[in-house]
Amino acid sequence: MNILLPFASRQVWLFATLLLTTNLIHADDSKKMLRIVTTVPPITNIVENIGGTLVTVSGIVPNGTDSHTFEPVPSDARTLAHADIIFVNGMSLEVPTIRLAEKVRKSNTPIVRLANETLPEEEWQYDFSFPKEQGNPNPHLWPNIALTIRYAEIVRDRLAEHDSRHADSYVSNASAYISKLERLDQAIFACIETIPENNRKLVTYHDSFAYFAPRYGMEVIAAIQPASFTEPGPRDIVHIIEQIRREKIPAIFGSEVFPSKIMEQIARESGARFVDELSDDELPEKPNHSFIGMMVNNIVIMTEALGGNPACVSHVDVSNLIDSVAG
Ligand SMILES: [Zn+2]
Repeated sequence: MNILLPFASRQVWLFATLLLTTNLIHADDSKKMLRIVTTVPPITNIVENIGGTLVTVSGIVPNGTDSHTFEPVPSDARTLAHADIIFVNGMSLEVPTIRLAEKVRKSNTPIVRLANETLPEEEWQYDFSFPKEQGNPNPHLWPNIALTIRYAEIVRDRLAEHDSRHADSYVSNASAYISKLERLDQAIFACIETIPENNRKLVTYHDSFAYFAPRYGMEVIAAIQPASFTEPGPRDIVHIIEQIRREKIPAIFGSEVFPSKIMEQIARESGARFVDELSDDELPEKPNHSFIGMMVNNIVIMTEALGGNPACVSHVDVSNLIDSVAG
């Protein structure tokens, strides 16, 4: 049939066929590119680093949003419906998002609960902000870098399992990323050691350092935010002020995601300095726009305020493995 076509038409035909073939190859490639959906920014950032250029990652919880009370919007349903793997923290952190994911996901798309897979139930922590009676454990595992490394390993294994063609790349990205996490972990130990022993105590508003503190030799004296996410009652406040005075705690910590007038009052009356800058899931602006950068910022703030020397984190590389991650 081609023989009957004039030369120019044959050229066009050939070109169209080539174009079609190229498109098919591309369509086939993008089909094989894993679509990953995540929730909080630290998890999004971990998956971006390990997935590299081989996956697309959509984080549902926007940076700087309260992840505990976050409700997904209709466009999130579409995003979740297209996912090949959904990585969440779990331990009751993103309940409305997980419920929606269960409803709309493809039948073979797993929902991977990183916290639940990292810690056996007997090691889950409950406290004032996350009381056992309500059955919601403290979900903030990731400030403890040994546990973050476990998150990274789970992400690596799931990506390699779903996209075995690129398993080697996921393994090598993960090993480079885990080396960075190990250097961060060592730096945190070194910084905390510079804080006078009597000051290695945390009073925070939001209760996000419950797994961090025991690893690095600190003690959470009090977390002020009640389980209802409202403000604490007057009796609790008086009790906390007395405790801060008694223990001579130099600084107490809040975060921008949870502004609290009560913390200012507690600081004024206890004589402690109020530092309103810790972050458990909001990644900082560039150049520290990464999970590692967020932890470096936290350590600098915490160490300085408690009388230590934060120089030990200055050599930590906060960059992501690929540039495009930093958006
Ligand atoms: Zn939190």
